[in-house]
Amino acid sequence: MKSQDFKQAWIELDGAEGEGGGQVLRTALTLSMITGLPFRIESIRAKRSKPGLLRQHLTAVQAATAISGAKVQGAGLGSQTLSFAPGPIRGGDYQFAIGSAGSCTLVLQTVLPALWSADVPSSVLVTGGTHNHAAPPADFLIRAWQPLLHRMGVKQSIELLRHGFYPAGGGQVLAKVEPCAVLQPIDLTTRGGEARLRAEALVAGVPASVAKRELERINTQMADVDGQLRVLPSSEGPGNVLLIEVVRGEITEVFTGFGEKGVSAESVADDVVRQARSYLKSDAAVGEHLADQLLLPLVLAGGGAFTTSHASSHLHTNVAVIEKFLPVDIETEQLTATMAQVRVRSTS
Ligand code: ATP
Repeated sequence: MKSQDFKQAWIELDGAEGEGGGQVLRTALTLSMITGLPFRIESIRAKRSKPGLLRQHLTAVQAATAISGAKVQGAGLGSQTLSFAPGPIRGGDYQFAIGSAGSCTLVLQTVLPALWSADVPSSVLVTGGTHNHAAPPADFLIRAWQPLLHRMGVKQSIELLRHGFYPAGGGQVLAKVEPCAVLQPIDLTTRGGEARLRAEALVAGVPASVAKRELERINTQMADVDGQLRVLPSSEGPGNVLLIEVVRGEITEVFTGFGEKGVSAESVADDVVRQARSYLKSDAAVGEHLADQLLLPLVLAGGGAFTTSHASSHLHTNVAVIEKFLPVDIETEQLTATMAQVRVRSTS
């Protein structure tokens, strides 16, 4: 290949486009490893108050670099530009420490899809935050995201070894992956059966009465919710998380709230109840977050569909990045006021 041709093969990305957050970079890293296409990105996380690579994003870059033997420029804290040229994916045993309470799950979601197609089994241990604002909690990956991947043929298990909350971090999530040759498309356009609801209130280094009040508040707002209070070792804290799990047919959704200083336990519960109610009110099969996190697996499977309440800005942004790497047709249609349908078709 002439150097001119090589130059033309680089995919150029604008990190300020759409959502303008870390997902643009993470999706690009994943697809670059899988397709072998190198990319350059400018204005990384331009729409965030602290633009550029934070520890979580830098760890995702380092993890992708280790797994694909990539040649990288710009991989430093605060960097707003990056070039990434991957080599072949190498399965194996990896450990990555974020060094802050940055989200372990977002680092895992960056590298796991690449390891699905490695030629040997892998394990990835990530240390950092496991329950973070504006990121999927480890419980979400384990209970909501992963079961749908299993239905598509992915052979993977995720284990939460230790909780980690902002600002202390120190949590650990371990993922194990067996290679799988092909993924099966999945159709998640209907949701079946009656909903079963379960709530879980976790406290670490925070009085158990906080979790008790959260569960009591849920019971005053919603009928038939089984509640579980879990007191974690205080060394894992301080932290307080409230989860409502909604199981309907073969789909599980997880809604999350975080206890904070100055916010009452009742307000935390009300917020999670609001999220769960809004999902239950819509006929959509998956919630907003699961929607943007399912898109890439569906694309790798070469097709599939789901309904969700609306196509979020994260989802649209992810579509734009995916289309730069792969010949795929992703159609988004708002069917009713509370339900959109997303359909993925490979065009290769
Ligand atoms: P920044 O926005 O600061 O760049 P980031 O890199 O953490 O941060 P985003 O690009 O905003 O990330 O992506 C966040 C991801 O976390 C999205 O996939 C979003 O759906 C998911 N997410 C956010 N909140 C939740 C939640 N409560 N449950 C599940 N997933 C969530």
